[in-house]
Amino acid sequence: MPQRYLIVGLGAAGAAAAETIRSQDPAGEIVVVSDDAHGYYSRPGLAYYLAGEVPEHMLHPFSDHDFRRLHLRQVPARATRLDPAAHRVEIDPGDSLSYDRLLLATGSLATEPSVPGLDLEGVVKQDDMEDARRILKLSHRGRVAVVVGGGITALEVVEGLNARHVHTHYFLRRDRYWSNVLDPAESKLVEHRLREEGVEIHYNTDLAQIRGAGGHVVGVTTSDGRAIPCNLVAVAIGVRPRMELAVNAGLRSTASAVETQRGILVNQTLQSSAPDVFAAGDVAQALDPSSGKRLLNTLWSVAVAQGRVAGLNMTGQAHVYVPGVPLNVTRLAGLTTTIIGTVGRGRDEDVPGLARGDSEGWRQLADSAAGMGPVMVQTDTAENHLRVVLGENTLLGALVMGDQTVSRPLYHLISQRADVTPIRNRLLEPAARLEELLTNFWIDWRRQHAAQES
Ligand SMILES: Cc1cc2nc3c(=O)[nH]c(=O)nc-3n(C[C@H](O)[C@H](O)[C@H](O)COP(=O)(O)OP(=O)(O)OC[C@H]3O[C@@H](n4cnc5c(N)ncnc54)[C@H](O)[C@@H]3O)c2cc1C
Repeated sequence: MPQRYLIVGLGAAGAAAAETIRSQDPAGEIVVVSDDAHGYYSRPGLAYYLAGEVPEHMLHPFSDHDFRRLHLRQVPARATRLDPAAHRVEIDPGDSLSYDRLLLATGSLATEPSVPGLDLEGVVKQDDMEDARRILKLSHRGRVAVVVGGGITALEVVEGLNARHVHTHYFLRRDRYWSNVLDPAESKLVEHRLREEGVEIHYNTDLAQIRGAGGHVVGVTTSDGRAIPCNLVAVAIGVRPRMELAVNAGLRSTASAVETQRGILVNQTLQSSAPDVFAAGDVAQALDPSSGKRLLNTLWSVAVAQGRVAGLNMTGQAHVYVPGVPLNVTRLAGLTTTIIGTVGRGRDEDVPGLARGDSEGWRQLADSAAGMGPVMVQTDTAENHLRVVLGENTLLGALVMGDQTVSRPLYHLISQRADVTPIRNRLLEPAARLEELLTNFWIDWRRQHAAQES
């Protein structure tokens, strides 16, 4: 009998798992259930779609041919209940699917603030293609928007609206943008560029109420009582893993429960506590051996990597998921920005949970280390910024804004925990030319490694 693989969710993790399973098991039956009518597309790419830089059809990583090659059965439905003991998943409307191995790759959803007026026409979020289309439909010259939240998604919406000539007010709860990942100089750089583009930033400002007339947004009231007229309110205060299936799976029998905390708890092979149930991507809370904690990630690359490992293990293999150094290459207010490894700490008031395109791994800086010498900052020009976090003898993390020449060397040095003792003191000099030092060191280090390996 061919194995029956069931995957819930056709996003980065689900698609990577399907591809991997097919590469290992040509005869197995793969069924993918997804409730997104737009299929499989790049969610990070939605920012470029909103800004009008990329057409919708370019957001799809798989062609029809790729799908045919995988011999999947796609079921456009919502999975509504999981019974791990019976190896069965119920789907809308009133049907069910049985499996030998199940992958939960259900991603995450935007969290909602608790303010009156959320149900008004003109209140938007940015989870998926449908949301992006809605924002585009509502964005016309002469309109006014208020954006609330932080991290990458809030900024993408601000910039998308701005590109569509919507006058945009951006509310920040405290005094700077993305305070637990960026340092004050980096936040300032982003905010300065936003203001230059015409965005009105309101510091220390919280949303108290969304006001409506005839069911449509007509304005907001801030917590200090100011009224701002607007037609659109975009909310991006963070996400929560989509765990409904996992949570209700344990309601009947604790013996087959899928254990959850903030996400679905998985072991190093990405198996949950329930037999034959795996989880990967935004929904999975996986062990990070370097901190010893179970962390959440909302990074595309992590979802793909986890989907691959889960796929291998669903075919009966025993691969361990080894988290790579968290990496994101994104654009903040037009500046290409690469974030690698551990660069920040603490909480960002604008995103009470986890933002999109975010990693809890970025914020594992110990307070003692963060406050002292190991954090170095160098700004070369108004457009470029480089920050390297130096541990005792390795680089812990880096943030590169603007010129990206040094990103690749830094990624390799950080992920391979290169011993930087030979240049440590020079890196700490106040006028250190960080890019030059690091690039030259990487070239030598690579040469030595190649010689040792041959
Ligand atoms: C606007 C935006 C910007 C982003 N920017 C970045 C970035 O710059 N860099 C980066 O690395 N990452 C970014 N991300 C995050 C990245 O896209 C996610 O980490 C990644 O998509 C997670 O993959 P996943 O497979 O876990 O979940 P998803 O890709 O979210 O896929 C989950 C799928 O499961 C389906 N589903 C859920 N529950 C059910 C159910 N019960 N029944 C049927 N189907 C279900 C959903 O409809 C969805 O199709 C961004 C995401 C968004 C939305």
